[in-house]
Amino acid sequence: MFLKKFLAIVLALMLILSAGSANENVERYNGEAKVKETKMLISGAGIAGLTLAYWLKQRGYTPTIVEKYPYLREGGYKVDVRGTAIEVAKRMGIYQDLLDGNVNLKSSKIVTPNLKVHEFDGDVLGHCSDDDIEVNRFDLFQILSKAVGEVEIIYDDTITKIDEMVHFEKMEPREFDLVIGADGLYSNVRKLAFGDESKFLRKYGIHFCVFPVNNIFDLEHSEIVYFDKGKFVAAYAAGVHSYACLAFKSEEETLSSDHLKDIFEKQFNDINWEVPQLISQMKSCDDCYFNSIAQVRMPKWTSGRVALVGDAAHAASAMGTSLSMVGAYVLAREIEQANGDFNIAYERYEKSIRDFVVNAQDLAEDNHQLLANGDGSSIKMQIQLFLMRVFPKKFIQFITKRGREQMRSVANGLTLEPAKGVLKE
Ligand SMILES: Cc1cc2nc3c(=O)[nH]c(=O)nc-3n(C[C@H](O)[C@H](O)[C@H](O)COP(=O)(O)OP(=O)(O)OC[C@H]3O[C@@H](n4cnc5c(N)ncnc54)[C@H](O)[C@@H]3O)c2cc1C
Repeated sequence: MFLKKFLAIVLALMLILSAGSANENVERYNGEAKVKETKMLISGAGIAGLTLAYWLKQRGYTPTIVEKYPYLREGGYKVDVRGTAIEVAKRMGIYQDLLDGNVNLKSSKIVTPNLKVHEFDGDVLGHCSDDDIEVNRFDLFQILSKAVGEVEIIYDDTITKIDEMVHFEKMEPREFDLVIGADGLYSNVRKLAFGDESKFLRKYGIHFCVFPVNNIFDLEHSEIVYFDKGKFVAAYAAGVHSYACLAFKSEEETLSSDHLKDIFEKQFNDINWEVPQLISQMKSCDDCYFNSIAQVRMPKWTSGRVALVGDAAHAASAMGTSLSMVGAYVLAREIEQANGDFNIAYERYEKSIRDFVVNAQDLAEDNHQLLANGDGSSIKMQIQLFLMRVFPKKFIQFITKRGREQMRSVANGLTLEPAKGVLKE
C-alpha cells in the first residue's frame, strides 16, 4: 500500500514535469486560403501561441505575437504530446520531427533516501502510452517555430489595456479585431479581461525549478529520481539535452520572490546526495524556469473579442502541452469557419473542447491529491522498494497500468473532424 502511494507520488511528479506514416493527413491551406483581413494579436510565444499562429496562418490570417521576454523562451524539461495532440501534430506535418526528438527513455533509476539506486527498464515513471511522444520542450519549441515560419513577433513588451485599441507597455497602441491570451499559467490577458486571477487558480503548494545541467549522473536516454523529506529531485538526459528539476511543497507563496534561487537553495540544504552540485548549477544558470503546480479553472474562456488558449485558459499538469496544441487547433478552425465572427467562433470553441479539458484536469487533480497527501516515511518505503526490486516488472506493471489507461482515455477524449485542408507536398 505504501509503495503504491510512494510510486503514485513519484508518478504524479513525473507527469507534472513532463506532457501510419509520418506525414499522412497533413492539413495545409496556404496557397489556397484567401488572405483574410481580421487582425489578430496573440499574447505569448509559447507552445499554445506558436501552434495557434501556425493554424491561423494556414487558414489565411496574418497574426501578430507579443512576447514579454526579449527572446523566445525555449528551454524546459521533457513534455508530453499525447492522444488528440498527436493528430494535431500529424496535421501540422511535424509528427516525424517529434518522433525524431522522442526522448524515448531506456531506463529509469529511483534513488531511495539511504542512497540505494534501483534501476528499471524503460520509462516506468511516465504515464506514456505507446503512441505518446515525450520530447524536450526545447525541441518541441524549435519544431513549432520552424513550422510557423515568418510571423511578426513583438519582443520585450506586454499588453497593458484592451479597449477599442490594444495598449502596450512600450509600443504605441494598435488596432486588433481579436486578442488571444496564450501567455501561460499567470496570463496577463486573463487578468486584463477577466479580473483577479485568484478566482480561477487552484494551487497545490508545490514549487519547482527546471534548469539545464551538466550530465553529472552519466545518463543517456534515462532519468534519475530522488525523493526524500517532501523534496523531489529529478534529472534526465537524452541526446544533447540534460535537465534537472527540483521541487518542494510549501504553503508559502514563493513565486513572486526576487530571490527564488536562494529559496530553493535553502529548501534543499538538508538534502545531500548530489543535490549540492545541482544547486550550484541552478545558481549559475541564467534561464531557470520557476513555477508552481496550479490549475486554471474558468467557467468561460472568452470575453468580448478576447479569448484564452493553452495554460492561460486551462492549465493542467501532464496534459498542458497537449491541451494547448489541441485548443489552438480548434480555436483557429472555429475562427475561420465563423468567418472571423468571434461570437460564433468563441462559443463553438468553448463547446468543442470543454469536456475534453475538464476530464484532463480532473485526472491531474487526482494525481495532485496523492502528491499533497503523500508522506515519505523511509523505512516502509525501503521495504516496499525491496519488494519492488524482487518483483519489479509485476509490481511496476500493476501500479502503472491503471495510470496509463486513464491517461490514454483522457488524452484521446476528443475526436477531430476529418482533415479537410488542401493537401500539398
Ligand atoms: C521557459 C519555459 C519552460 C517550461 N518548462 C516546463 C517544464 O519543464 N515542464 C512542464 O511541464 N512545463 C514547462 N513549461 C510550461 C509548458 O510549456 C506549458 O505548461 C504548456 O506547454 C502549455 O503552453 P502555453 O503556451 O500555454 O504556456 P507556456 O509554454 O508557458 O508559454 C507562455 C508564453 O507566454 C509568455 N508570456 C508570459 N506572460 C506574458 C505577457 N505578459 N505578455 C506576453 N507574453 C507573455 C511567456 O514568456 C511564454 O513564452 C515551461 C514554460 C516555459 C515558458
